[in-house]
Amino acid sequence: MTLAVGIDVGSTATKIVFMNNKEDIHCHIRPTGWSPREAAQEGIRSLLDETGYSESQIKATVATGYGRIALQFADRTVTEITCHGRGAAFLIPGADLVIDIGGQDSKVLKINPQGKVLDFLMNDKCAAGTGRFLQVMAAALGVDVSELADLSANQEPVNISSMCTVFSETEVIGLLAQGVAKGAIVAGLHQSIARRMAAMVGRLGEPENKAVFTGGVALNQGVQRSLEQLMGIPVVTHKYSQAAGAIGAALIAQKML
Ligand code: ADP
Repeated sequence: MTLAVGIDVGSTATKIVFMNNKEDIHCHIRPTGWSPREAAQEGIRSLLDETGYSESQIKATVATGYGRIALQFADRTVTEITCHGRGAAFLIPGADLVIDIGGQDSKVLKINPQGKVLDFLMNDKCAAGTGRFLQVMAAALGVDVSELADLSANQEPVNISSMCTVFSETEVIGLLAQGVAKGAIVAGLHQSIARRMAAMVGRLGEPENKAVFTGGVALNQGVQRSLEQLMGIPVVTHKYSQAAGAIGAALIAQKML
């Protein structure tokens, strides 16, 4: 039995995917920390222990993500745009748009049914509209990012007018001081991030039919709900949404076998 491995070394989290065939997929996610190579190697070891596969069964490894260059042991490195397109089309067949919100960047990709990227836009210059934005706001609210979706459920969003993470944090602290409910603030923050993404999609032109929501922020159903409301199309997530780039890398590795 041969294994194809995809590794996406993100700024926040490293995702490792083992693919034996397209139905047999295993995924491991861990913080990237200070060493992308160590995160990847430890992740591979954990996944080998978990699955019972042996290292000698790994026949092709593709690395992607911002830390991919540090993985000299990989057979190939591929850009995260290409990998995300491939992975997203595999996870949600029929989607023609990918909305990816990661730890420190966000991007929108138009894809064809095979996951080939037709056009894309990326924000890696500003924390607003990324997972980092929500992490800063969660800290200001004294909650964990994993609690944001529940907090915002069925809440009327309060308008967050600042476009910048630092000013938004000040605004949040001010709203808390005025006694505005946390849930309404969180709903407003979700709406703010969704507005930014919808504006990016708008700049790509042409309407879409179905979007796949990927990246770690896709675990937050509050952002998903806001995106659907604003964009008026289904915005679909998958249990492997955070690992879409690593899945794409594993699919490319599998082709190399
Ligand atoms: P990167 O690839 O840039 O390292 P990811 O796509 O892995 O980033 O996303 C990391 C982000 O996902 C974090 O900044 C955090 O905001 C968000 N995140 C991670 N886990 C959760 C969770 N359980 N609920 C909500 N958001 C989460």
